[in-house]
Amino acid sequence: MRRYAVVFLAVMSLNAAVYQTLSLEEEAVIVHKGTERPFSGKFNHFKGKGIFTCKRCGAHLYRSEDKFDSHCGWPSFDDEIEGAIKRVKDADGFRTEIVCATCGAHLGHVFKGERLTTKNVRHCVNSIAMDFIPSKSKP
Ligand SMILES: [Zn+2]
Repeated sequence: MRRYAVVFLAVMSLNAAVYQTLSLEEEAVIVHKGTERPFSGKFNHFKGKGIFTCKRCGAHLYRSEDKFDSHCGWPSFDDEIEGAIKRVKDADGFRTEIVCATCGAHLGHVFKGERLTTKNVRHCVNSIAMDFIPSKSKP
């Protein structure tokens, strides 16, 4: 009995070292592929300079230079950090889901051809799926 408890604790601490513990709201989006309410996320109108990271594993996902105002209600980016984002066919059959290439966390969806920026791409990302590291130099 005691040995089982020790092994259990060891496994739990190993997981904690790899992934951040998620709140229920974060888990609903990141694990269960939910969508936060539009205009509700903390990064929707956020203008800070730095790097947006995966809430779960900390991988660098997007640069603030690629964030733009799409007025869609979610943080929008027209480019990604190379290799950080994996595209998969959404379960709905027509949209393209985007997930963290490192840990598979659900981030949102990517849309093409809306002509909102010259790159003509919009990564529509849930604020709750990201963290932010401010750049050290003053903007
Ligand atoms: Zn991740």
